[in-house]
Amino acid sequence: MPARIIDGRALAAALNAETAHRIEAGRFHPGLAVVLVGDDPASAIYVRNKDRAARAVGIEARTIRLPADTSETALLARIAALNADPVIDGILVQLPLPPQIRPQAVIEAIDPAKDVDGLSPVNAGRLFMGRPFLVPCTPLGVMKLLAAADVSVSGARALVIGRSNLVGRPLAALLTAADATVTVAHSRTRDLAAECRRAEILVAAAGRPELVRGDWIASEAVVIDVGIHRQKGGGLVGDVAFAEALPVAASITPVPGGVGPMTTACLLENTLTAALARRGHPGKG
Ligand code: NAP
Repeated sequence: MPARIIDGRALAAALNAETAHRIEAGRFHPGLAVVLVGDDPASAIYVRNKDRAARAVGIEARTIRLPADTSETALLARIAALNADPVIDGILVQLPLPPQIRPQAVIEAIDPAKDVDGLSPVNAGRLFMGRPFLVPCTPLGVMKLLAAADVSVSGARALVIGRSNLVGRPLAALLTAADATVTVAHSRTRDLAAECRRAEILVAAAGRPELVRGDWIASEAVVIDVGIHRQKGGGLVGDVAFAEALPVAASITPVPGGVGPMTTACLLENTLTAALARRGHPGKG
């Protein structure tokens, strides 16, 4: 039997509807600033999509476009102004940044209370200490996909391929907190295929098109594909060879339509979480 497709679009629509409802009930509009430095076309599309999605749920989104030759000092000054701006609840700086700007310096400059990407040392530290506040959007989306697909995470052998601060590391922390037995694979992992074959939950976030082959996947495994790659013909593929995985896995996320929409939906939810916390609502942790 082919794998069940985990529909990220439907789940993201449901989460967005819930966020919109909570915003309406709260009778205020959270403010989100999205900062785009330079004119990378892919980043411009991501930013436009985030702006549109935010407005659709009642978030006041403001996109700040800065030229590609913006200095680090100038960007840090903009962030300091956004940190101090009372109408702004969430700040997101679109990565990658031009080479003259150190991403870590920028991430560390964002007020942790407004860090809706969850990448600042304070939010990363809270996650690793088991007291999460603003959690990185993609790993948060993966956990929600697993929950919606009724995957029992507790006690399961989970493999995360990738150890970036954006995806792999925080996801490993979330899976551990959910009582999975977690292995983290990376570019130095000796036998990735063997690690994959042991996994009951397999999350691919390596940034390598179709790295995970069908015969690496255990029958009845749950496969979450975080990768997203544009092919020459214009189509999109993930880090998993989808057609090979489909007859083997129990369930799988498609690319597109899996993790991607959930990342944006979780950004909007994080913006509401930040806005409520700034207004004194009891938060997490
Ligand atoms: P990244 O920073 O490049 O990290 C990639 C990780 O994968 C690294 O830890 C690297 O290991 C590991 N890796 C690379 N090649 C490998 C291999 N052959 N075998 C095993 N591990 C390998 O990437 P990222 O930001 O985490 O993103 C990963 C992918 O997810 C990308 O395709 C990105 O476009 C996608 N993404 C999608 C969304 C979404 O919303 N759908 C959001 C974020 C990212 P080392 O640490 O040893 O270098």
